[in-house]
Amino acid sequence: MMTNDSHSPIDINAFKQRDPLVNVNPPKPEHIGHVPTQAVLRETNSMGESVYLIEIVKGLFITLGKMMSQLVGWKQIPTVHYPEVTRDIPEGYRGKHRLTTREDGTSKCVACMMCATACPAECIHIIPAESEDPDVERYPDRFDIDLLECVFCGMCVEACPVDAIRMDSGVYSLTAFDRESFMVTKEELLAVKPNPHVRGQVV
Ligand code: SF4
Ligand code: SF4
Repeated sequence: MMTNDSHSPIDINAFKQRDPLVNVNPPKPEHIGHVPTQAVLRETNSMGESVYLIEIVKGLFITLGKMMSQLVGWKQIPTVHYPEVTRDIPEGYRGKHRLTTREDGTSKCVACMMCATACPAECIHIIPAESEDPDVERYPDRFDIDLLECVFCGMCVEACPVDAIRMDSGVYSLTAFDRESFMVTKEELLAVKPNPHVRGQVV
């Protein structure tokens, strides 16, 4: 299994040109290495807070108040009967990843390793291979993502130069009985469908 061993800088301006909605603010060159800092004074706990007992009692009263308001119908907190009923997915929700395909059904991924390099959790593992297609230099022989290590930051999507990886599936329920099941393979990622309610979905 191959891991990212290079940390080449990402061309953030290229991302912005590709998608003006990407909200990135690259640091100005004169600020690199000289990030302005500001000292923030921490508030110290009062004697009552340090003992914790009063805070625990206050917390219990808040819980009791919420429970009573729900019981007497004074202030109804909506209950979603999940999993029979699911909530709408907000626009731009970053769900389970998927790999996009070309018209012939092959993966758009060119195994450039940009996503693996950008991934802060180092949970993308790619084994590249030479492509027989003269128009495509490389393809991923293996493309695995460890979803238990993933922090769903979306950096891999932003880093991809060919729009080969997206997080527009809307899939947020990731459950399994063993750890190995969270290591999703290229074939599984290619089978994930886009969700029409998530911004930027491509059919
Ligand atoms: S969403 Fe973030 S943590 Fe997860 S695979 Fe992509 S870059 Fe890595
Ligand atoms: S998904 Fe995109 S960034 Fe990642 S290796 Fe494939 S082409 Fe490169």
